[in-house]
Amino acid sequence: MINRIGERNSIRGITEKPEHYFMQIKLVDLERQYLRYKNEIDSSIQNTISDTNFIQGPEVRAFESELSKFIDIPFCISCGNGTDALQIAMMACELQENAEIIIPAFSYIAPLEAAALLKLKPVLVDSDPDSFNIDPQKIQPLITSNTQAIIPVHLFGQACDMVSIKKLTENTGIKIIEDNAQSLGSEHILNQENIKTGSVGAISITSFFPSKVLGCFGDGGAIFTSDNILAQKIRMIANHGQREKYQHEIIGINSRLDTLQAAVLSVKLKYLIRDISKRQKAAQFYNEKFEGVEEIVPPIISSVNSHVFHQYTLRIKKKRNELRKFLEENGIPSMIYYPVPLHLQKAYSYLGYKKGDFPVAEQLTEEVLSLPMHPDLNPEELSYIANKLLAFFKA
Ligand SMILES: *Cc1c(COP(=O)(O)O)cnc(C)c1O
Repeated sequence: MINRIGERNSIRGITEKPEHYFMQIKLVDLERQYLRYKNEIDSSIQNTISDTNFIQGPEVRAFESELSKFIDIPFCISCGNGTDALQIAMMACELQENAEIIIPAFSYIAPLEAAALLKLKPVLVDSDPDSFNIDPQKIQPLITSNTQAIIPVHLFGQACDMVSIKKLTENTGIKIIEDNAQSLGSEHILNQENIKTGSVGAISITSFFPSKVLGCFGDGGAIFTSDNILAQKIRMIANHGQREKYQHEIIGINSRLDTLQAAVLSVKLKYLIRDISKRQKAAQFYNEKFEGVEEIVPPIISSVNSHVFHQYTLRIKKKRNELRKFLEENGIPSMIYYPVPLHLQKAYSYLGYKKGDFPVAEQLTEEVLSLPMHPDLNPEELSYIANKLLAFFKA
Protein backbone atom coordinates (compact mmCIF):
# COMPACT_ATOMS: atom_id res chain seq x y z
CA MET A 1 0.00 0.00 0.00
CA ILE A 2 1.19 3.46 -0.79
CA ASN A 3 0.63 6.35 1.52
CA ARG A 4 -1.71 8.65 -0.36
CA ILE A 5 0.02 11.81 0.68
CA GLY A 6 3.32 10.46 -0.62
CA GLU A 7 1.65 9.43 -3.82
CA ARG A 8 0.18 12.84 -4.43
CA ASN A 9 3.51 14.54 -3.90
CA SER A 10 5.28 12.26 -6.33
CA ILE A 11 2.60 12.87 -8.96
CA ARG A 12 3.26 16.56 -8.56
CA GLY A 13 6.84 15.83 -9.46
CA ILE A 14 8.37 16.15 -6.03
CA THR A 15 11.01 13.47 -6.22
CA GLU A 16 11.96 13.44 -2.57
CA LYS A 17 9.41 11.33 -0.76
CA PRO A 18 8.10 12.57 2.58
CA GLU A 19 9.52 10.92 5.68
CA HIS A 20 6.36 9.00 6.40
CA TYR A 21 6.17 7.56 2.86
CA PHE A 22 7.06 4.09 4.03
CA MET A 23 5.23 4.37 7.31
CA GLN A 24 1.65 3.31 7.74
CA ILE A 25 0.78 5.02 10.96
CA LYS A 26 -2.64 4.13 12.24
CA LEU A 27 -4.51 5.33 15.27
CA VAL A 28 -5.10 1.67 16.15
CA ASP A 29 -3.43 -1.03 14.08
CA LEU A 30 -5.60 -4.12 14.20
CA GLU A 31 -3.87 -5.70 11.23
CA ARG A 32 -0.44 -5.83 12.85
CA GLN A 33 -1.93 -7.22 16.02
CA TYR A 34 -3.78 -9.93 14.10
CA LEU A 35 -0.63 -10.91 12.21
CA ARG A 36 1.25 -11.42 15.49
CA TYR A 37 -1.30 -13.98 16.66
CA LYS A 38 -2.51 -15.15 13.25
CA ASN A 39 -1.74 -18.84 13.57
CA GLU A 40 -3.39 -19.24 16.94
CA ILE A 41 -6.40 -17.11 16.08
CA ASP A 42 -6.96 -18.80 12.73
CA SER A 43 -6.89 -22.26 14.22
CA SER A 44 -9.15 -21.20 17.09
CA ILE A 45 -11.69 -19.80 14.59
CA GLN A 46 -11.40 -22.86 12.38
CA ASN A 47 -12.11 -25.17 15.30
CA THR A 48 -15.20 -23.19 16.21
CA ILE A 49 -16.48 -23.30 12.65
CA SER A 50 -15.96 -27.05 12.50
CA ASP A 51 -17.83 -27.48 15.80
CA THR A 52 -20.75 -25.34 14.51
CA ASN A 53 -21.68 -24.45 18.06
CA PHE A 54 -22.10 -20.80 17.09
CA ILE A 55 -24.30 -19.62 19.96
CA GLN A 56 -23.13 -20.24 23.54
CA GLY A 57 -20.59 -22.86 22.50
CA PRO A 58 -18.09 -24.13 25.08
CA GLU A 59 -15.56 -21.40 24.12
CA VAL A 60 -17.89 -18.77 25.60
CA ARG A 61 -17.90 -20.20 29.13
CA ALA A 62 -14.19 -20.98 28.89
CA PHE A 63 -13.43 -17.37 27.96
CA GLU A 64 -15.68 -16.00 30.71
CA SER A 65 -13.89 -18.10 33.26
CA GLU A 66 -10.42 -17.00 32.08
CA LEU A 67 -11.44 -13.35 32.05
CA SER A 68 -12.99 -13.56 35.49
CA LYS A 69 -9.72 -15.00 36.81
CA PHE A 70 -7.75 -12.31 35.00
CA ILE A 71 -9.64 -9.42 36.56
CA ASP A 72 -10.17 -11.26 39.82
CA ILE A 73 -13.95 -10.91 40.01
CA PRO A 74 -15.82 -14.18 40.67
CA PHE A 75 -18.53 -13.90 37.99
CA CYS A 76 -18.23 -12.86 34.35
CA ILE A 77 -21.21 -12.96 32.01
CA SER A 78 -20.50 -12.14 28.38
CA CYS A 79 -22.99 -10.36 26.13
CA GLY A 80 -23.43 -8.75 22.73
CA ASN A 81 -21.61 -5.45 23.30
CA GLY A 82 -20.64 -2.93 25.98
CA THR A 83 -23.76 -0.80 25.58
CA ASP A 84 -25.98 -3.85 26.16
CA ALA A 85 -23.79 -4.69 29.14
CA LEU A 86 -24.66 -1.31 30.69
CA GLN A 87 -28.35 -1.78 29.99
CA ILE A 88 -28.33 -5.29 31.45
CA ALA A 89 -26.46 -4.04 34.53
CA MET A 90 -29.05 -1.29 35.07
CA MET A 91 -31.89 -3.79 34.60
CA ALA A 92 -30.29 -6.23 37.05
CA CYS A 93 -30.05 -3.48 39.68
CA GLU A 94 -33.82 -2.94 39.33
CA LEU A 95 -33.51 0.82 39.12
CA GLN A 96 -36.99 2.36 39.23
CA GLU A 97 -38.44 4.51 36.46
CA ASN A 98 -37.38 8.16 37.02
CA ALA A 99 -34.72 7.13 39.52
CA GLU A 100 -31.71 9.42 39.32
CA ILE A 101 -28.55 7.95 37.88
CA ILE A 102 -25.28 9.88 38.00
CA ILE A 103 -23.23 9.94 34.80
CA PRO A 104 -20.15 11.96 33.76
CA ALA A 105 -20.77 14.73 31.18
CA PHE A 106 -17.42 14.09 29.49
CA SER A 107 -17.75 10.52 28.25
CA TYR A 108 -18.89 8.15 25.56
CA ILE A 109 -22.64 8.15 24.98
CA ALA A 110 -23.36 4.55 26.05
CA PRO A 111 -24.18 5.01 29.78
CA LEU A 112 -26.47 7.95 29.07
CA GLU A 113 -28.17 6.11 26.25
CA ALA A 114 -28.85 2.99 28.32
CA ALA A 115 -30.22 5.11 31.19
CA ALA A 116 -32.51 7.03 28.84
CA LEU A 117 -33.82 3.83 27.22
CA LEU A 118 -34.75 2.51 30.66
CA LYS A 119 -36.56 5.78 31.48
CA LEU A 120 -34.21 6.64 34.31
CA LYS A 121 -33.36 10.24 35.07
CA PRO A 122 -29.75 10.95 34.10
CA VAL A 123 -27.97 13.47 36.30
CA LEU A 124 -24.78 14.65 34.64
CA VAL A 125 -21.65 15.63 36.53
CA ASP A 126 -18.54 17.58 35.53
CA SER A 127 -15.10 16.00 35.26
CA ASP A 128 -11.70 16.37 36.81
CA PRO A 129 -9.41 18.14 34.32
CA ASP A 130 -6.33 16.06 35.24
CA SER A 131 -7.77 12.55 34.94
CA PHE A 132 -10.67 13.36 32.56
CA ASN A 133 -12.79 11.23 34.93
CA ILE A 134 -15.92 12.13 36.90
CA ASP A 135 -15.16 14.51 39.78
CA PRO A 136 -16.38 12.93 43.07
CA GLN A 137 -16.53 16.33 44.78
CA LYS A 138 -19.08 17.41 42.21
CA ILE A 139 -21.13 14.24 42.68
CA GLN A 140 -21.79 14.88 46.36
CA PRO A 141 -24.11 17.92 46.03
CA LEU A 142 -26.16 16.12 43.39
CA ILE A 143 -27.07 13.11 45.51
CA THR A 144 -30.73 13.11 46.53
CA SER A 145 -33.07 10.59 48.15
CA ASN A 146 -33.98 9.60 44.58
CA THR A 147 -30.39 8.76 43.53
CA GLN A 148 -30.18 5.03 42.84
CA ALA A 149 -26.96 4.58 40.90
CA ILE A 150 -23.62 6.11 39.92
CA ILE A 151 -21.80 5.17 36.73
CA PRO A 152 -18.08 5.92 37.07
CA VAL A 153 -16.60 5.69 33.57
CA HIS A 154 -12.89 4.80 33.74
CA LEU A 155 -11.88 6.91 30.78
CA PHE A 156 -8.93 6.30 28.44
CA GLY A 157 -7.26 3.64 30.61
CA GLN A 158 -7.25 4.66 34.27
CA ALA A 159 -9.71 4.28 37.11
CA CYS A 160 -11.89 7.04 38.56
CA ASP A 161 -11.29 8.02 42.18
CA MET A 162 -13.09 4.96 43.52
CA VAL A 163 -12.11 5.55 47.14
CA SER A 164 -14.12 8.79 47.18
CA ILE A 165 -16.96 7.42 45.09
CA LYS A 166 -17.31 4.39 47.34
CA LYS A 167 -17.36 6.65 50.40
CA LEU A 168 -20.21 8.69 48.89
CA THR A 169 -22.37 5.61 48.53
CA GLU A 170 -21.72 3.96 51.89
CA ASN A 171 -24.97 3.18 53.74
CA THR A 172 -27.05 4.85 51.04
CA GLY A 173 -28.15 1.88 48.92
CA ILE A 174 -26.80 3.70 45.87
CA LYS A 175 -25.44 1.14 43.40
CA ILE A 176 -22.12 1.67 41.66
CA ILE A 177 -22.01 0.36 38.10
CA GLU A 178 -18.47 0.76 36.75
CA ASP A 179 -18.05 1.38 33.03
CA ASN A 180 -14.71 -0.34 32.48
CA ALA A 181 -14.95 -0.46 28.67
CA GLN A 182 -11.72 1.53 28.30
CA SER A 183 -9.67 0.40 31.28
CA LEU A 184 -9.83 -3.39 31.40
CA GLY A 185 -6.61 -4.61 33.01
CA SER A 186 -5.69 -1.37 34.80
CA GLU A 187 -5.24 -1.31 38.57
CA HIS A 188 -5.83 1.00 41.48
CA ILE A 189 -5.31 0.98 45.21
CA LEU A 190 -8.24 0.44 47.57
CA ASN A 191 -7.76 -0.23 51.30
CA GLN A 192 -3.99 -0.44 50.77
CA GLU A 193 -4.53 -3.19 48.23
CA ASN A 194 -3.77 -3.13 44.54
CA ILE A 195 -6.93 -4.25 42.74
CA LYS A 196 -8.01 -4.51 39.12
CA THR A 197 -10.33 -1.78 37.94
CA GLY A 198 -13.95 -2.94 37.90
CA SER A 199 -14.16 -4.67 41.24
CA VAL A 200 -15.48 -1.92 43.54
CA GLY A 201 -19.03 -1.56 42.22
CA ALA A 202 -21.96 -3.94 42.55
CA ILE A 203 -21.45 -4.53 38.84
CA SER A 204 -18.87 -3.52 36.26
CA ILE A 205 -18.97 -3.85 32.50
CA THR A 206 -16.56 -3.90 29.62
CA SER A 207 -16.60 -3.88 25.81
CA PHE A 208 -14.70 -5.95 23.25
CA PHE A 209 -15.23 -3.47 20.42
CA PRO A 210 -12.28 -4.15 18.08
CA SER A 211 -10.27 -1.07 19.07
CA LYS A 212 -10.59 -1.60 22.84
CA VAL A 213 -7.62 -2.86 24.86
CA LEU A 214 -9.07 -6.38 24.58
CA GLY A 215 -11.00 -6.34 21.31
CA CYS A 216 -12.67 -9.05 19.25
CA PHE A 217 -13.47 -9.22 15.52
CA GLY A 218 -16.88 -7.60 15.82
CA ASP A 219 -19.08 -6.60 18.75
CA GLY A 220 -18.82 -8.09 22.22
CA GLY A 221 -19.13 -7.17 25.88
CA ALA A 222 -19.14 -8.53 29.41
CA ILE A 223 -20.58 -7.90 32.85
CA PHE A 224 -18.80 -8.65 36.15
CA THR A 225 -20.01 -9.08 39.70
CA SER A 226 -18.96 -10.75 42.95
CA ASP A 227 -22.57 -11.50 43.88
CA ASN A 228 -23.75 -14.96 42.88
CA ILE A 229 -27.48 -14.10 42.95
CA LEU A 230 -26.91 -10.98 40.86
CA ALA A 231 -24.77 -13.00 38.45
CA GLN A 232 -27.59 -15.48 37.87
CA LYS A 233 -30.02 -12.64 37.26
CA ILE A 234 -27.62 -10.95 34.81
CA ARG A 235 -27.25 -14.22 32.90
CA MET A 236 -31.02 -14.57 32.69
CA ILE A 237 -31.56 -11.00 31.50
CA ALA A 238 -28.96 -11.38 28.75
CA ASN A 239 -30.77 -14.50 27.55
CA HIS A 240 -34.48 -13.58 27.28
CA GLY A 241 -35.05 -13.71 31.03
CA GLN A 242 -34.81 -17.47 31.04
CA ARG A 243 -32.83 -19.89 33.17
CA GLU A 244 -34.25 -22.86 31.35
CA LYS A 245 -35.23 -22.78 27.73
CA TYR A 246 -38.76 -21.40 27.19
CA GLN A 247 -39.25 -20.63 30.89
CA HIS A 248 -39.21 -16.83 30.98
CA GLU A 249 -39.05 -15.72 34.60
CA ILE A 250 -38.23 -12.04 34.05
CA ILE A 251 -38.19 -9.64 31.10
CA GLY A 252 -34.87 -9.92 29.35
CA ILE A 253 -33.17 -9.14 26.09
CA ASN A 254 -31.16 -11.12 23.56
CA SER A 255 -27.52 -10.19 24.01
CA ARG A 256 -24.90 -12.90 23.68
CA LEU A 257 -21.24 -13.09 22.79
CA ASP A 258 -20.77 -15.18 19.63
CA THR A 259 -18.76 -18.35 20.08
CA LEU A 260 -16.46 -17.15 17.28
CA GLN A 261 -15.73 -13.95 19.18
CA ALA A 262 -15.01 -15.90 22.36
CA ALA A 263 -12.58 -18.06 20.37
CA VAL A 264 -10.70 -14.92 19.23
CA LEU A 265 -10.79 -13.32 22.68
CA SER A 266 -9.38 -16.38 24.45
CA VAL A 267 -6.25 -16.16 22.30
CA LYS A 268 -5.89 -12.40 22.75
CA LEU A 269 -6.45 -12.55 26.50
CA LYS A 270 -3.32 -14.71 26.87
CA TYR A 271 -1.22 -11.82 25.56
CA LEU A 272 -3.13 -8.95 27.12
CA ILE A 273 -0.58 -8.14 29.81
CA ARG A 274 2.20 -8.06 27.23
CA ASP A 275 0.14 -5.84 24.93
CA ILE A 276 -0.69 -3.47 27.78
CA SER A 277 2.96 -3.15 28.68
CA LYS A 278 3.76 -2.25 25.06
CA ARG A 279 1.14 0.49 25.22
CA GLN A 280 2.67 1.75 28.46
CA LYS A 281 6.12 1.88 26.89
CA ALA A 282 4.81 3.85 23.93
CA ALA A 283 3.11 6.27 26.34
CA GLN A 284 6.31 6.63 28.34
CA PHE A 285 8.16 7.54 25.14
CA TYR A 286 5.60 10.20 24.25
CA ASN A 287 5.65 11.55 27.82
CA GLU A 288 9.40 12.01 27.84
CA LYS A 289 9.31 13.79 24.50
CA PHE A 290 6.59 16.21 25.56
CA GLU A 291 8.00 17.02 28.97
CA GLY A 292 8.39 20.74 29.49
CA VAL A 293 6.52 21.76 26.35
CA GLU A 294 4.22 24.54 27.47
CA GLU A 295 1.39 23.93 25.01
CA ILE A 296 1.17 20.17 25.62
CA VAL A 297 -0.21 18.57 28.77
CA PRO A 298 0.56 14.82 28.76
CA PRO A 299 -1.82 12.41 30.50
CA ILE A 300 -1.69 12.72 34.28
CA ILE A 301 -1.77 9.41 36.12
CA SER A 302 -3.02 9.38 39.70
CA SER A 303 -0.50 8.00 42.18
CA VAL A 304 -2.93 5.20 43.12
CA ASN A 305 -3.54 4.11 39.53
CA SER A 306 -1.89 2.21 36.74
CA HIS A 307 -2.87 3.25 33.20
CA VAL A 308 -3.48 0.84 30.30
CA PHE A 309 -3.58 3.60 27.65
CA HIS A 310 -6.63 2.63 25.70
CA GLN A 311 -6.07 6.19 24.50
CA TYR A 312 -3.05 8.43 24.80
CA THR A 313 -4.84 11.72 25.23
CA LEU A 314 -3.11 15.08 25.45
CA ARG A 315 -4.52 18.44 26.36
CA ILE A 316 -3.37 20.97 23.78
CA LYS A 317 -3.53 24.45 25.26
CA LYS A 318 -3.25 26.32 21.96
CA LYS A 319 -4.17 25.70 18.31
CA ARG A 320 -5.42 22.15 18.81
CA ASN A 321 -7.33 22.05 15.55
CA GLU A 322 -4.42 23.50 13.56
CA LEU A 323 -2.12 20.92 15.11
CA ARG A 324 -4.49 18.14 14.13
CA LYS A 325 -4.53 19.36 10.53
CA PHE A 326 -0.73 19.63 10.49
CA LEU A 327 -0.41 16.07 11.78
CA GLU A 328 -2.83 14.84 9.15
CA GLU A 329 -0.80 16.54 6.40
CA ASN A 330 2.19 14.63 7.71
CA GLY A 331 0.51 11.24 7.64
CA ILE A 332 -0.31 11.13 11.35
CA PRO A 333 -3.90 10.30 12.28
CA SER A 334 -5.30 11.71 15.51
CA MET A 335 -8.73 11.85 17.10
CA ILE A 336 -10.79 14.03 19.39
CA TYR A 337 -12.40 11.93 22.11
CA TYR A 338 -14.88 13.59 22.64
CA PRO A 339 -15.80 16.61 20.55
CA VAL A 340 -19.20 17.28 22.18
CA PRO A 341 -19.97 16.81 25.88
CA LEU A 342 -23.04 14.72 26.66
CA HIS A 343 -25.11 17.62 27.99
CA LEU A 344 -24.91 19.37 24.62
CA GLN A 345 -25.94 16.36 22.51
CA LYS A 346 -29.14 17.02 20.59
CA ALA A 347 -30.92 13.80 21.56
CA TYR A 348 -30.54 14.69 25.24
CA SER A 349 -31.62 18.33 25.10
CA TYR A 350 -34.80 17.20 26.90
CA LEU A 351 -32.70 16.94 30.06
CA GLY A 352 -32.58 20.74 30.06
CA TYR A 353 -28.85 21.33 30.28
CA LYS A 354 -27.21 24.27 28.54
CA LYS A 355 -23.79 25.48 27.52
CA GLY A 356 -21.81 26.52 30.58
CA ASP A 357 -23.30 23.88 32.88
CA PHE A 358 -20.16 21.73 32.90
CA PRO A 359 -17.20 24.01 32.23
CA VAL A 360 -14.48 21.37 32.63
CA ALA A 361 -16.18 18.96 30.23
CA GLU A 362 -16.63 21.80 27.76
CA GLN A 363 -13.01 22.90 28.06
CA LEU A 364 -11.81 19.32 27.58
CA THR A 365 -13.75 18.98 24.32
CA GLU A 366 -11.77 22.01 23.07
CA GLU A 367 -8.38 20.77 24.22
CA VAL A 368 -8.15 16.98 23.98
CA LEU A 369 -6.26 15.19 21.25
CA SER A 370 -5.60 11.45 21.15
CA LEU A 371 -2.46 10.30 19.35
CA PRO A 372 -1.86 6.92 17.67
CA MET A 373 -1.74 4.31 20.44
CA HIS A 374 -1.51 0.55 20.03
CA PRO A 375 0.94 -2.22 20.99
CA ASP A 376 2.62 -2.35 17.56
CA LEU A 377 3.87 1.23 17.21
CA ASN A 378 7.58 0.97 16.41
CA PRO A 379 10.33 3.34 17.62
CA GLU A 380 10.62 5.09 14.23
CA GLU A 381 6.92 5.83 14.19
CA LEU A 382 6.89 7.04 17.77
CA SER A 383 9.82 9.39 17.14
CA TYR A 384 8.31 10.64 13.94
CA ILE A 385 4.96 11.40 15.59
CA ALA A 386 6.46 13.07 18.66
CA ASN A 387 8.93 15.11 16.63
CA LYS A 388 6.19 16.43 14.39
CA LEU A 389 4.26 17.67 17.41
CA LEU A 390 7.36 19.34 18.76
CA ALA A 391 8.11 20.88 15.36
CA PHE A 392 4.60 22.34 15.19
CA PHE A 393 5.04 24.25 18.43
CA LYS A 394 8.62 25.29 17.77
CA ALA A 395 7.86 26.69 14.31
C1 LIG B 1 -16.80 1.44 23.96
C2 LIG B 1 -17.51 1.95 25.12
C3 LIG B 1 -18.78 1.49 25.53
C4 LIG B 1 -19.67 0.61 24.74
O1 LIG B 1 -19.15 -0.37 24.03
P1 LIG B 1 -19.82 -1.02 22.74
O2 LIG B 1 -19.28 -2.40 22.83
O3 LIG B 1 -19.31 -0.26 21.57
O4 LIG B 1 -21.29 -0.98 22.88
C5 LIG B 1 -19.30 1.96 26.71
N1 LIG B 1 -18.66 2.85 27.45
C6 LIG B 1 -17.46 3.34 27.09
C7 LIG B 1 -16.80 4.33 27.98
C8 LIG B 1 -16.86 2.93 25.91
O5 LIG B 1 -15.68 3.45 25.57
